[in-house]
Amino acid sequence: MRKKIVAANWKMNLNLTEGGNLVSDICKSLPILAENMQVLIAPPYINITSVVSQLSGVSNVFVAAQNCHQEASGAYTGEVAASMLSAAGVTYVIIGHSERRQYFAESNAMLAQKTDQALSNNLKVVFCCGEPLEVRDANNQNAYVAQQIEESIFHLTAEQMNSVVVAYEPIWAIGTGRTANTAQAQDMHSHIRAVLSAKFGAEVADSTSILYGGSCKPSNAAELFACQDVDGGLIGGASLKAEEFLGIIYAMTK
Ligand code: PEP
Repeated sequence: MRKKIVAANWKMNLNLTEGGNLVSDICKSLPILAENMQVLIAPPYINITSVVSQLSGVSNVFVAAQNCHQEASGAYTGEVAASMLSAAGVTYVIIGHSERRQYFAESNAMLAQKTDQALSNNLKVVFCCGEPLEVRDANNQNAYVAQQIEESIFHLTAEQMNSVVVAYEPIWAIGTGRTANTAQAQDMHSHIRAVLSAKFGAEVADSTSILYGGSCKPSNAAELFACQDVDGGLIGGASLKAEEFLGIIYAMTK
């Protein structure tokens, strides 16, 4: 059975104290998570070790990084290597978030390298894909997302795909308050599963979790998560408040 996952992406928000308070508020009211359910928290790098310690012993809740560098080590001032994340107790890394693609010029080829770094350092990957509004308006979203997947993760083996979660995040829905409706989300998630199936086979495609991201909140999470191919969410704004994030976690457990 594939995993259901709700992941918090704090982006460049919350200092050490604020992040610590948020994690403890979440932990206080966390529902029991079934074996196939996970919660991920992706704080800024500087908060990572502290969130790792706070979550030690909390079942099914893991720390994710928001990025890693594509090289193993070296003269890359300001960057963090996948091996360092792994050594710090991080479990997942988000690769290819649209903000990284847009503001840091991360190409599909670079994301393939980052994915390799993550996997070779025993990190699991949340691979983000999603189209901008003009692509959606031209009805080219399926080809656009397929190309992102092909150019960044098609070189992996079927076994490596066990460590990859895909997050579909239409850029026009991120931080805009405009959510994909359930038909749009389901159509794209089933398309992504078909793309994975054509390359890696039905077994891999069926066991890959595909998360939806883009203005997901407690009021719309349940209907999105009820879609057959939506296995949870990657949450930005609504992950910064315990009550809202917990509301989304509860929607996953229903
Ligand atoms: C995100 O950036 O991954 C995201 C989904 O943001 P938001 O929930 O704020 O739209």
